[in-house]
Amino acid sequence: MLETRRLNDKKKVIISAALTGAVTTKGNNPNLPTQPKEICESAIACYEAGAAVVHIHVRDDDDQASMRFDKFEEAVTLIRETGCPVVINLTSSGGQGFSWEERIKPFKVLKPEMASFDSGTMNWLNSVVFMNEPEFLELCGKEMIEANVKPEIEVFDIGMLNTAKYYLKKGILQAPAHFQICLGAPGGMEATTENLVYVVNHLPEDCTWSTFGIGRGANEILMAALAMGGNVRVGLEDNVYYNAGQLAESNEQFVARVARLAKEIGKEVATPDDARQILGLRK
Ligand code: ZN
Repeated sequence: MLETRRLNDKKKVIISAALTGAVTTKGNNPNLPTQPKEICESAIACYEAGAAVVHIHVRDDDDQASMRFDKFEEAVTLIRETGCPVVINLTSSGGQGFSWEERIKPFKVLKPEMASFDSGTMNWLNSVVFMNEPEFLELCGKEMIEANVKPEIEVFDIGMLNTAKYYLKKGILQAPAHFQICLGAPGGMEATTENLVYVVNHLPEDCTWSTFGIGRGANEILMAALAMGGNVRVGLEDNVYYNAGQLAESNEQFVARVARLAKEIGKEVATPDDARQILGLRK
């Protein structure tokens, strides 16, 4: 499987922690961080457990999905003020019905080192349209280049990968690209090793990649990614259960498991500076 590693470091694994997301609620798992102070505390705990990157969404005062700029600003400022070196990755989607401006402003103004870029539209969880129309993606890509923010290209199916390749050719995205292969969301590809191998084998040569599985395939994807030389994302955005029927205690519980597994098979857990180097983040 040498060819499936692309530019990923063969020894180091970058753990990203997706702390909050837009879908899960405290009703699903009371340990979900939703307000800036909780998000900051979770980010620090994940860093201490081995995460190099934290992927951040915010919620409004009622814990509903939100793209409120003041909430992003508060969360990012709190994390930065601690001096924690973790790489910050902000969402550019955040839920349903947000304007292009609301989706772009957090990364444009706060200039995290990374932000998510969802390279296509899909029927989300068989309930709503996850809208990423071409004009928005072109604008979003250009704004990320302008702000010197590295896109984390989220692909939920192979069509999104093909779209990303088109934008790479057009200069809306730049090589070396970084992909997050998101498996197991109803409406996208299922979380199976077969699907992961298929997507990885169709990535551009000069890219890095990470992956996660939602739901029952989560642990399979985690183990397959480690075996294939991939980076991994874990956290309460993607899974509220640590194992079947067992609610997760925290985001850092997921991170600590990956760190243990990685070390057990002779890998190193990438530090934030390792991740900056592997992913080619701005100096
Ligand atoms: Zn997200």
